[in-house]
Amino acid sequence: MRKRITRRKIRLSERNLKNLYTICITCCIIGLSVTVLIRVDKNGLSAVQTDISSAKNSLKDAAAVFSNQENFSEMPDISKIMEETYLGQTEYVFQSNTNPFNDAVLPANSQTVSSFFGFRNDPFTGATAFHSGVDISVDEGTDITAIYDGKVTEVSENDTGGKYIEIEHPNGYISYYGHLSSSEVQIGDDVSKGDVIAKSGNTGVTTGPHLHFELKYNDRAVDPAEFFDVYAKN
Ligand SMILES: [Zn+2]
Repeated sequence: MRKRITRRKIRLSERNLKNLYTICITCCIIGLSVTVLIRVDKNGLSAVQTDISSAKNSLKDAAAVFSNQENFSEMPDISKIMEETYLGQTEYVFQSNTNPFNDAVLPANSQTVSSFFGFRNDPFTGATAFHSGVDISVDEGTDITAIYDGKVTEVSENDTGGKYIEIEHPNGYISYYGHLSSSEVQIGDDVSKGDVIAKSGNTGVTTGPHLHFELKYNDRAVDPAEFFDVYAKN
């Protein structure tokens, strides 16, 4: 699907924030997905980048980054606002109640998360790094299942992720399953949710057997906890 991308910088004022917010809501209502990123530096709000791409879901895709919570409090409550603060930067992400993985199943029969999505200290280098998925504790050889109907778009292997599988879903999301020991599907296979697609393992760079589970949308990693409560940080 071709994307229509609009990028522009605007000077941020409270009025502009409200205008941006209105654009988000409008696009969501008419079925466009909108991502609004507002860069924040030590001088405060500085620049805005908007990507308006062709039809996708609803507010789930309208992400906004603001530095000032007060601006937010004047805006109507949509459903949920996620907040993440790192190195003095605070990110707020709008979410709708629409869950594109409404009746999805877990990728493995385990609810133990050994590493959550987001910034963390890399277990090998100690440096701060962004963890783009959740690590789910499972013994080697555990069944890994497709979380949702879709098509297998990748069955491959690399040094860090080890053996991995990617599935593209009709809702536009891609699910990724890493550090596998073996795959039971091939590229091009159609899978249904709950189908066993692989056995978990310890391939690639790991500190022990686990499943690295990741969701991507428009080339951006999305926190699986948005859809699977069991993977949320307490
Ligand atoms: Zn991981």
